[in-house]
Amino acid sequence: MSKQDYYEVLGVSKDVDAKALKSAYRKLALKYHPDQNPGDDAAEAKFKEVGEAYAILSDPEKRAAYDRFGHAAFEGGGAGPGGGNPFGQGDPGDIFENIFSQVFGGGFGGGGRRRNGPARGNDLRYDLEIALEDAFTGKDTEITLPTAVDCDACDGSGAEPGTSPETCPTCQGAGRVRAQQGFFTMERTCARCSGRGKVIPNPCKTCGGAGQVREDRTLQVKIPAGVESGMRIRLAGEGEPGMNGGPKGDLYIFIDVSEHDIFERDGPNLYCPAPVPMVTAALGGEIEIPTIDGGRARVTVPEGAQTGRKLRLRGKGMPSLRGSGHGGDLFVEMIVETPRNLSARQKELLREFCECSGADCNPESEGFLGRVKKFWDGMTGEDGQRPN
Ligand SMILES: [Zn+2]
Ligand SMILES: [Zn+2]
Repeated sequence: MSKQDYYEVLGVSKDVDAKALKSAYRKLALKYHPDQNPGDDAAEAKFKEVGEAYAILSDPEKRAAYDRFGHAAFEGGGAGPGGGNPFGQGDPGDIFENIFSQVFGGGFGGGGRRRNGPARGNDLRYDLEIALEDAFTGKDTEITLPTAVDCDACDGSGAEPGTSPETCPTCQGAGRVRAQQGFFTMERTCARCSGRGKVIPNPCKTCGGAGQVREDRTLQVKIPAGVESGMRIRLAGEGEPGMNGGPKGDLYIFIDVSEHDIFERDGPNLYCPAPVPMVTAALGGEIEIPTIDGGRARVTVPEGAQTGRKLRLRGKGMPSLRGSGHGGDLFVEMIVETPRNLSARQKELLREFCECSGADCNPESEGFLGRVKKFWDGMTGEDGQRPN
């Protein structure tokens, strides 16, 4: 199922500012809110869709990731729980109701739900470029990434050590407060505790009460031999920490194998264009070529070989990723080289040599001239004249 572009969902342009974005969201969210459309599944789906689009585009970091990678920025590849959900786990109904409350400062009353259940942490993406040689051998490497971790000083509570969070005096721990407004009873998130139900009288000095700090983390990553560009390595539980005791998200390492100076890769096979001197191509002989393991191989050039001919070296390609079966092959693609800077004597010899002609001597020319003749014959008009 292909997802609609977030900007299109909200009917805004790519350069929309925060104010216009919020206003576009407000209009659509009001229109599709489940309380306005009881029992209408299509409206509810639409409500979630605009909520998701707004949640991403209103968050500068997520919006930047989305602009760069599209929906793929938030895809967990279906590899684990919560894959594909940019909000982590948790009740999706709560999530979108919550976005709505944040924008409107309250729900339609009555149906407001609290959001202090455990929620899974966000998945993270890390792009890693590796050399073709490393993709061949596999590699143990280290990556460093900024991440939010529980604050050590307060153990993630946000309260200065020795003190603890207290029940919010405004909402008595409910996280929401109710107020009469016209004929609506508005229930809104408690402003004092932001819906957490608890306040921190003495915030931790290290994290400022957030309970989490940004930190560079270094991780060991094992790149398996045979990886290809576009593959992802999942490190379970290495994503962002969850909220309220929820599990951590996952880290996805996106592999990009860089181009190589000598070898071109197509799946498990490697291709190596190699120049062959004209005389070697004519008489047959041997050329030496490099192999991806850093070694060298001698390749027999058959007598009369032409440009474009591929010589196969079995088992000299990339290894198979799972280590099962055999890997790919190396194809040496011959490019017959025309000599330059000839001496007078060499030129004389070549002129003598030129007397040789015919299909046996010039197979490519013969085929080509045959096709050209057929083409001209087909073009001949009724008057027998060839068009100019
Ligand atoms: Zn702290
Ligand atoms: Zn409160």
